[in-house]
Amino acid sequence: MKKDIKKYKLLNIKLTPQRIAILDYLERNKTHPSVSEIFKYVNRRFPSMSFATVYNTLNTLVQHGRIRELTMDNDKKRFDPNTLPHHHLTCIKCKRIIDVDLDYPLSLPENKSSGFKVLGNHIEFYGICSECSSLNKQQKKKLSEII
Ligand SMILES: [Zn+2]
Ligand SMILES: [Zn+2]
Repeated sequence: MKKDIKKYKLLNIKLTPQRIAILDYLERNKTHPSVSEIFKYVNRRFPSMSFATVYNTLNTLVQHGRIRELTMDNDKKRFDPNTLPHHHLTCIKCKRIIDVDLDYPLSLPENKSSGFKVLGNHIEFYGICSECSSLNKQQKKKLSEII
């Protein structure tokens, strides 16, 4: 925990163990979890922490530019600790979202930018992750082991 406090000291917000726990979880979980997933984890460590507190803490972290909110998933907001420009790879089955750390030399032709001063871009690749595509095989294997 000591190391975590040092790492997050640069943040311009008050650091509570709950906030550190949320940041720590996001740093380690690279699937861009939703509020309920984050709540489930934090609640195990801090049973008194309510869903609303987790939700508000996430919003505070977004406002301070410490994490990003992703809106690709229509059902729920997802959170990203990586605030540097990057792209995403989404699994349409399990909905995990993985970072694509590749700098694409993408630019919008001037006649297509509607007078905008373009500041950035974000590409969402989607498909079926390796775990989901091997799931069927695994299930069949397990079944044959039982039988
Ligand atoms: Zn998947
Ligand atoms: Zn990301």
